[in-house]
Order: sequence, then structure tokens, then C-alpha cells
Amino acid sequence: MCSPGARDHGDGVGYHTGMLGSDRDHERIEGMAAVGVGVLDQLPKTLVLWDVDHTLIENGGVSKATYSLAFELLTGRLPSGRPVTDGRTDFQIMRELFSANSVAPDRCADLGRIEQALAEAMKRNAPLLPDRGYALPGAADALRALLSVPAVVQSVLTGNIEANAWAKLHAFDLDRLVDLGVGGYGSDSIVRSELVDAAREKVRLKYGEKFGATSTILIGDTPRDIEAARNGGAKIIAVATGASDVSTLQAAGADAVIESLVDLDRFSSVLLEVRTRA
Ligand SMILES: [Mg+2]
Repeated sequence: MCSPGARDHGDGVGYHTGMLGSDRDHERIEGMAAVGVGVLDQLPKTLVLWDVDHTLIENGGVSKATYSLAFELLTGRLPSGRPVTDGRTDFQIMRELFSANSVAPDRCADLGRIEQALAEAMKRNAPLLPDRGYALPGAADALRALLSVPAVVQSVLTGNIEANAWAKLHAFDLDRLVDLGVGGYGSDSIVRSELVDAAREKVRLKYGEKFGATSTILIGDTPRDIEAARNGGAKIIAVATGASDVSTLQAAGADAVIESLVDLDRFSSVLLEVRTRA
């Protein structure tokens, strides 16, 4: 359960003060967030944690190219076969890539080196993102709408290491709409479900708020996101914009499934319904 924290919600300030740039940014965001805000304003305190790939953005193959390049930076050779992603954390993906390419276990034990290689590989590949990828339809508006709700803390829960999550969102101007300082990342743990508590602890330290199983809502596109919510102690809204269709995500146990983020009113009412469901 979400326990009362030190923050006074009656001050009208909200969690997001200081995250935005100019007054123009504020005006633009408030204008675009007008739809759905009537519903979202009814939300009690809520921590919303977004998955990145196939939920907020399509990376156009840049992710897989980045794992391959990181592999090459670490081993001096190209991997055979493409990396398998699909909701796995970055360290998990790299370990499976090492194993599939018969790399000795001692070469893949140092997570610090792997993280460095992944960050370097993304640094080289990030310029490809705006051409090859795109923000998923409705994603920016959904983020803007939640950004304007004082009761909501909004960040990410992603298998990407922190630097690469930022690079992907920054490429599509989405990074400033979420508080990336309190996200759960593949660099926090190889186990996705552990990222829920990693994010909640960062939120507690920054905002003095504790969020629990009913007040934390993940939004993601794979059965692994659903499993992370179940094992990590959170609710989840699944979005069928990845490889899994609606029925697969329903069968995997999502609290709700939506086709996409295109309909902001629908997204807003589903979020309120899931958050307030007993
Ligand atoms: Mg995903």
C-alpha cells in the first residue's frame, strides 16, 4: 500500500517542478495534455513506470545493432546470429549472446565492463535512432498528460542500462517528460522484477514517498513486463504495440490490455480504473 509521505499534496506544486525548461514548454505541455486530464486528475498518488522499447518508442533495429557492437567491443569479433531481446534486461541479453557464441564465462562476468561497452555502442549508434526509429503514436501525449498531474510520479522501468534508456528517449524528445533519475534500469539488476523496488527506492529517496503494490503501475508490451509486475509487486497495463497481441498479454495476466496509446481518453480511463480497482 502507498503510505502517506512527507510531501504535502495540497501545495499544488506536484512532483515535476523543475524538470521542464522554458515557460513555453509548460504552455505547450499543458495545452496538449488537456485531453484526458479530467480523468487523470482523479488519480490518487501513483507511481507510473514505463517500459521503453515497443511501448514508448520503436528503435528500428538500433537496439540489436547496439548489442552486436557491444559484443564486438568486448570480444573483438562479431557475434553470429542476432541478439534476442523481447523484454529481457541488457545484461541478460548480453549473457545469452555470449553463451550462443561460446564466449568463455570469465569474459562475461564483469558487468561494469559490459555496461561500459553497451553505453559506448549506443553512443556510436544513437545518431541512427531518429531516422530508423520513431516515438510510438500517442506516447508523447500520454507522457505529457501524466506530467501535468501532481499526484503522479512518472519514470521508466526498462531492461536498458540507464545511459541507453536516456539515449533512446532523448532521440525522440521524450526524456524530459519523465523523471529518469528515479527509474529502474537494466543496470540496476539483471532480473527485471527487481527493477520495481530499485525504482521505488529512488523515488523514496528523492520525493520522500513510499509506493506499494497498489500504487505502482507498470506499462509495458511483453509478458516479461507482466511477470516483472507480478514478481516485483505492482499492477500492469499492457500495450499491444510490440510482438505480443492483446490475447497473449491478457493470458499472461495483465491487469488491463490496450491496443495502443493512440486514444488518450481510453488510456486515461484504463489507468484510473486499474489504479483504483480493489
Ligand atoms: Mg518493451
